[in-house]
Amino acid sequence: MSLVVVGSMAFDAIETPFGKSDKIIGGAGTYIAWCASNFTPIKQISVVGGDFPQSELDALAARNVDLEGVQIKKDEKTFFWSGRYHMDMNSRDTLVTELNVLENFQPVVPDNFQDCEFLMLGNLVPAVQLSVIEQLKTKPKLIVLDTMNFWMEVAMDDLKKVIAKVDVLMVNDGEARQLSGDYSLVRAAKTIMAMGPKYLIIKKGEHGALLFHENNVFFAPALPLEEVFDPTGAGDTFAGGFIGHIAKTKDISFENMKTAIIIGSAMASYCVEKFGTERLRELSQADIDSRLSQFVELVNFDINLV
Ligand code: AMP
Repeated sequence: MSLVVVGSMAFDAIETPFGKSDKIIGGAGTYIAWCASNFTPIKQISVVGGDFPQSELDALAARNVDLEGVQIKKDEKTFFWSGRYHMDMNSRDTLVTELNVLENFQPVVPDNFQDCEFLMLGNLVPAVQLSVIEQLKTKPKLIVLDTMNFWMEVAMDDLKKVIAKVDVLMVNDGEARQLSGDYSLVRAAKTIMAMGPKYLIIKKGEHGALLFHENNVFFAPALPLEEVFDPTGAGDTFAGGFIGHIAKTKDISFENMKTAIIIGSAMASYCVEKFGTERLRELSQADIDSRLSQFVELVNFDINLV
C-alpha cells in the first residue's frame, strides 16, 4: 500500500523585498516529495523537460521517492514559474507561468502504483489530476487535492470536476473566497464542502490554517518566525507534512487530521527559512521533533471553566 503524489516539478524564479533567486528547482510535487519522504516512501507522478537536472531526480530517488511515474520529455522545457512577494511576505504576484511540458501532459499511472492507498494531488492541471483518479482501479482510502487561483481562472470547469471526487481540499483564504464567491470563510467552507470534499483546509499563511469537517472547525497556528526568507512552497510543504503523517499512521479520523495539520505547519515553518527546497533538504528527524515541541508549547494552556 502506498502514497502516490502528483504535482508540478519546476524551475522557479523568486523575488522578495529582501532578495532575488536565480532559476532554482521548485514545483508543488517537488516540495511535497521532499517533505513527505520524511514520513513514508512515495510514488511520484509528474513531468519534466530535458533541462531538468538528473541530479535532482537522483536526490529524490535516494529518499525513497519512486520516479517511475515521472516522464522526462527530452526535447521540451520544464514548467517555469516566477513570483514576487509583497512587503508582508504573505501575499505575492505571479509574474510568469510558462506551462511548457505541463501543457500536453498525459499522465500514465504505472501498474506498480495501483496499490495507491493515499493520493496527494498537488497543484497541477486539473485535467491531469482527474486523469490520475480515473486511472486508479481501486479508490484510495483518502484523496487530498491542492490547487491555486491560476487554475480557477483558466480551468474552473475541470477543477470543479476534480473537487467533486476528493475527500480533502486545501486552498488558501483568497482561493476559498474565489471558489465560493463568499467573503466569510465559514460560509465559504460550507459552500465548498457542498461541492464534494468532506474536509476542507483553508491555509492562511503566517496566520495558520483552519480544518473544517461538517460542523467542526480546528485551528492550527503558524509558528511565529523571526525571519521568513522565501514563502514559496510553504503550501506544498504543508500538504506534504499533512499527507505524510496520514499515510504513515494510516488513520483518516478528524482527530488524526488535527495532528497532521500541526505537522504540516511545522514542516512549512522550516521551508520558508531558506530559498527553494534548500532548508527541507537538510532536515533531520531531531529538527522535526524539536519544531513539533515548539508547536505544542505555542498552543498549550490551562484554563479552569466554572
Ligand atoms: P506554494 O508557494 O505552496 O503556493 O507553491 C509554489 C510552487 O508552486 C512553486 O514551486 C511553483 O513552481 C508551483 N506552481 C506555481 N504555479 C503553478 C501552477 N499554475 N501549477 C502548478 N504548480 C505551480
